[in-house]
Amino acid sequence: MTGATRRTEAVVSLAAVAANVRAVRAALAPGTMLWAVVKANAYGHGAVPVALAALRAGADALAVALPEEGWALRRAGIASRILVLGPILPEQAGGVVSADLEAIAFSPPVIDALGAAAQVAGRRVAVHLKVDTGMGRVGAAPQDVPALAERLGRWRSIEWAGLMTHLSDADHEDATWTGEQYRQLLRVVERLRQRGWSVPVHAANSAAALRFPGLQADGVRAGLALYGLEPWPGAPPLSPAMELTSVVTMVKPVPRGFAVGYGHTYRAPAPQQIATVAAGYADGVRRALSNRGAALVGGLRAPIVGRISMDQLTLAVPLAAPVHVGDPVVLLGRQGNEAIRAADWAEWLGTISYEVVCGISDRVPRVYRDPHEAP
Ligand SMILES: *Cc1c(COP(=O)(O)O)cnc(C)c1O
Repeated sequence: MTGATRRTEAVVSLAAVAANVRAVRAALAPGTMLWAVVKANAYGHGAVPVALAALRAGADALAVALPEEGWALRRAGIASRILVLGPILPEQAGGVVSADLEAIAFSPPVIDALGAAAQVAGRRVAVHLKVDTGMGRVGAAPQDVPALAERLGRWRSIEWAGLMTHLSDADHEDATWTGEQYRQLLRVVERLRQRGWSVPVHAANSAAALRFPGLQADGVRAGLALYGLEPWPGAPPLSPAMELTSVVTMVKPVPRGFAVGYGHTYRAPAPQQIATVAAGYADGVRRALSNRGAALVGGLRAPIVGRISMDQLTLAVPLAAPVHVGDPVVLLGRQGNEAIRAADWAEWLGTISYEVVCGISDRVPRVYRDPHEAP
């Protein structure tokens, strides 16, 4: 048997991705490098199609979290620069070099492993020194950067391609800490300059790139904005690229007191209809949305009632609403004048929109079309 039979889909608009790339590009000073961040399967949107769309729309290069994610892009024939943003261990250096990826480094063993792997392969590998200016996860202490730069310089097989840091609070209302981190980075740049070294600098994620043009440096690494998700509360609108849709599998009128789902956590307060939908927590519709979230059906906003189960969920709809088996259900996206955004899920769930879109599971087919076109 072939073909999709269960119509729960993540509909991804590559036109929206392209529009967002152009919007970010328009906010950058001329000549600023735009790295399109497509880690984690392009935040759940599908790494290869998104990467191709982003490059076509004007991104200069790609960034991923893991070498494996870079390999997948290479296997798809993508020849652009690809930076692995995550820390690698020395034993991963060979896999970076063989796929012609770029790596970050902040320790002598990783620098030496990259240099040696490239030398053996008869190639050069591009390395970005990562400095920790206050995220506190990975990166060299600022005072250690000159010694690491010297270490890089010993390897003819290494091209020193960048100095980078990552900002911890660029989406926060209070910009004080972000400014502090950036000044810390500039002090490192200055120390290197005094020794005659100059290298491209990049620090900004989506929020920093769009909120603080002064932090764009030589390049920005934008993920969230490319997917049309707002990088900080109240950001200028972008075009959300993913809709999550499903279908009504049953609809029935129920009397007052009718109980729904595991644990009978919901009882109809009055006669109404219950519409059952072919999506559940195994698809990424998190169980914590039970009796809390909503979906769009028949042009109405309908609350999710009862517990979300693995493969199904239930909506309450008014008795008079014309809802039928087979009707489309929008879990994320627009229907009529209503919209449910990843930010709404994030608020219901006490998380961030990043986690919402990354959490749409592999079971959900990604379908590439503009959601506002006829299929
Ligand atoms: C994920 C990531 C980004 C992109 O961040 P957004 O907020 O999605 O734009 C940039 N830099 C690094 C190091 C990252 O890990």
